Amino acid sequence: MVKDRSDWCISRQRKWGVPIPIFYCEDCKKPLINEETIKRIAKLFDIEGSAGWYTHTPEEILGELAVCKECGGHHFRAEQDIMDVWFDSGSSYAYVLDEMPDHRFPADVYLEGNDQYRGWFQSSLLTSVATRGVAPYKTVITHGMVVDGEGKKMSKSLGNGIDPQDVIKTYGADVLRLWVSSVEYTSDVRISPDILKQLSEIYRKIRNTLRILLANLGSAENDFDPNKDMLKIIDLEDMDKWAVARLNRLVERVRNAYENFQFHLIYHDIHNYCSIDLSKLYIDITKDRLYCERKDDKARRSAQTAMYIIANSLIRLLAPILSFTSEEVWDFISHLDSENAESVFYNDMPTFDSKQCFDEVEEKYNALFEHRDDVMKALEIARANKVIGKSLEAKITIYGDKKSETMKLFEQNRSLLETIFIVSQVALSYDKPTHDVFNETESGISVEVTQANGEKCVRCWMYDQNTASDEQGQHLCERCKNAVR
Ligand SMILES: [Zn+2]
Ligand SMILES: [Zn+2]
Repeated sequence: MVKDRSDWCISRQRKWGVPIPIFYCEDCKKPLINEETIKRIAKLFDIEGSAGWYTHTPEEILGELAVCKECGGHHFRAEQDIMDVWFDSGSSYAYVLDEMPDHRFPADVYLEGNDQYRGWFQSSLLTSVATRGVAPYKTVITHGMVVDGEGKKMSKSLGNGIDPQDVIKTYGADVLRLWVSSVEYTSDVRISPDILKQLSEIYRKIRNTLRILLANLGSAENDFDPNKDMLKIIDLEDMDKWAVARLNRLVERVRNAYENFQFHLIYHDIHNYCSIDLSKLYIDITKDRLYCERKDDKARRSAQTAMYIIANSLIRLLAPILSFTSEEVWDFISHLDSENAESVFYNDMPTFDSKQCFDEVEEKYNALFEHRDDVMKALEIARANKVIGKSLEAKITIYGDKKSETMKLFEQNRSLLETIFIVSQVALSYDKPTHDVFNETESGISVEVTQANGEKCVRCWMYDQNTASDEQGQHLCERCKNAVR
């Protein structure tokens, strides 16, 4: 568009705007404009603004400079044409960046609608290149316009407009900001009551995930004190290393997305991490360890260390978008001595940390989780058929071919299976199942769900052949007996 613009007429025949600072001699009609007269006018505008042009006579403005160089005349007429308004806005950097405190030339970002390619972006570029040889901005971001849910332009007559104030009243400013972050803004962006309702559900999911993490940490006084109880990352349980490694990758992607103004990637990524990695997998699987191990047990502290790192990092990553929520969570979470506890906004975002990379552990768990849905589906059917109630009431037998990769993976990680599937017992079998079992699996295995063997431990709800009654006649498993003791 710059290339195709052959010229720019910077005067306009209008009655309002910034005047062109030229006087004309009433006698010989020649123009009077030079460095001295321009300085005089600039001084006047400094004090009175550009309105001074219209409230004073040329002789008042010029004073002793009101002498025609051509004919010696003393009577002048002020130019009534104005500058093209694009010249005004296009030179705003000269005031904003040069004069205002804490600003510097060039600007980091110019942000404007995609109807401005011929407007502000361009006139800023032209005037700055002409006077300084460089663009006045390092980056230009353009955005589309807000349209309704069907892609129609918003208008008063259609009544399809949405007032940001109404959204804030109904859902809060965080949900509005979350919507802004969720849209691919380089083209037109849609908003409607339905879209906002969906967004508010996603907001609730993220908020709830943070709430569960906080609940599992408790306060520094009565449970987890990050300054005393944190384990070294290298000493964490594998499952916790997995969650931290996944967070670490998330941190890297989110920071990149912020740097590149791709906010919708942040929204998707954080939502996925919260709903799948955390809610569906990590939080569910670690429940037993957190609820049933002794309070200061190393395995429990390991999960809490991971959860603390995750919560603390998520708040910081989310702060620019869910600002109120992040600040609210920041008030509740216990703080490290090295942090500024006063506000999340006084702290840096987390950075990618090579100490939090555990590629092998990550791969192992990713592979196991790939097959988890198959088992979960079998449990769901068994629950619907009233074979079991809670999943801990189940024993599952997994049938498969000895040579299959899935069975090899299960065999290698035999000791993790009960925990990952949240059942009391798991058996692997290479025989052909002799009766009807669930076999509509992705990985070619068959899953049988039966009642778990042994008796239910009243504390952790796991079934175990070795539960024994304690003095009060309650069935407790070995692990729980120790924890209670
Ligand atoms: Zn003259
Ligand atoms: Zn137990």
